[in-house]
Amino acid sequence: MDGQTLTTIERASAADVDRAVAAARRAFDDGRWSRMAPAGRKKVLHRLADLIEKNALELAVLGVRDNGTEIGMALKAEPGSAAGTFRYYAEALDKVYGEIAPTAGDVLGLVHKAPVGVVGAIVPWNFPLMIGSWKLAPALAAGNSVVLKPAETASLTLLRLAELASEAGMPDGVFNVVTGQGSVAGEALAMSMDVDVLVFTGSGGVGRRLLQYSAASNLKRCYLELGGKSPNIVFADAPDLAQAAKVSAAGIFRNAGQVCVAGSRLLVEDSIHDDFVAELSKHAGAMTVGNPLDLNTNIGAVNNLPQLEGNLGFVTKAVEEGAEIALGGGRVMEETGGYYMEPTVLTGVQPQHNVAQNEVFGPVLAVTRFKTDDEAVQIANSTQYGLAAGVWTSGLSRAHRMVRDVQAGVVHVNTYGGADGTVPLGGVKQSGNGHDKSLHAFDKYFDLKTAWMQL
Ligand code: NAD
Repeated sequence: MDGQTLTTIERASAADVDRAVAAARRAFDDGRWSRMAPAGRKKVLHRLADLIEKNALELAVLGVRDNGTEIGMALKAEPGSAAGTFRYYAEALDKVYGEIAPTAGDVLGLVHKAPVGVVGAIVPWNFPLMIGSWKLAPALAAGNSVVLKPAETASLTLLRLAELASEAGMPDGVFNVVTGQGSVAGEALAMSMDVDVLVFTGSGGVGRRLLQYSAASNLKRCYLELGGKSPNIVFADAPDLAQAAKVSAAGIFRNAGQVCVAGSRLLVEDSIHDDFVAELSKHAGAMTVGNPLDLNTNIGAVNNLPQLEGNLGFVTKAVEEGAEIALGGGRVMEETGGYYMEPTVLTGVQPQHNVAQNEVFGPVLAVTRFKTDDEAVQIANSTQYGLAAGVWTSGLSRAHRMVRDVQAGVVHVNTYGGADGTVPLGGVKQSGNGHDKSLHAFDKYFDLKTAWMQL
């Protein structure tokens, strides 16, 4: 947030990662957590949620100083959501039953749900505590041990979480954090012969590598939550266009656009295009870019300089390709030493333009007109991604048709963002193959094991 060094952290080597994995394996094999009665695991996870709540302000400030998210959002999205996630899976863990198969009478077929063993988790910098907890809570609730590698630029809250887990009574070796570079510590975790399942949130490029590492090592199962280029489609019959404009602005610009499900492509019906863009730009222009620790700030810092330069590069290229800047477009507050960017609205973006096809992961909105439902769907589906989408309409049939036809893991209707932990979050196409949140996320952390018994 000010370009200054906040602290230094350990740059784990491959050998450090191997030691963490070995500790996790020992903890799993001796049953100190994996065979603890579910009620015991539940108690520890609830205590951890209590401690997250008790230390919420400290965690939020620590995270903001580390990664630049505005504090108002960080409080809610980071400790707030992490505590809820631990409680959700703490409550779920003793409601998981195996099955008795409908066999002939002289055999008994039992299907056990067994924890997978050692889970490796690699997470990004935008919401480390929230996303980390989406992996950790179900993995730990299921009885697994975990080795987690945070992003280089956002490790502190997850290190603190490990301390809190210990304070909550989680046995040593069950939850391990290794900090360091993706290309060293991350690669070592993904290449480990002793990690059974790898869960990842981050970019498509790294996701591809993880699949290669899996193939080159022990064929560990990989669940990838990747990027998005999510279309937010506004029809002229939206129930409240002013509200749609306000929510759509927040849906792209909060956390400086560093949100995987950000509605980064705005598709607007031709007849309302100019008025709607003006209304949205009014809201965006009124959002305060500023010190992320200031409660009045709506848009905090961009996480790092290469990311900021990438954001600005997208704007330059969009203009070269024929788009117009309706709002923003530049770096601001450079004198602070931090990396800040104005909310930026680009109009006249064509579906094939670079900024419409590729994820910016910054406060840049690409606006495209459409005339018919079919055209809206066709543009919405014209990227490699399929993470999230939004549809604004008062037509019930139209809403259902759009939910059916738009290729995305989540389609918001007359809202954008904010889906809670009861529903899964995951993509289709090149947005990945794993789901976080809800009971569906639990399945990744169990193996099915059959017992076939002759009676
Ligand atoms: P990134 O892919 O660069 O890094 C993610 C993590 O992978 C980091 O911990 C990094 O150290 C590690 N890593 C990097 N190289 C590695 C390697 N060779 N081997 C193993 N690990 C390696 O992503 P980022 O820049 O931190 O985050 C932004 C990306 O994350 C965006 O694409 C965004 O859309 C995506 N994201 C997706 C979701 C989702 O739920 N789908 C949520 C948040 C962010």
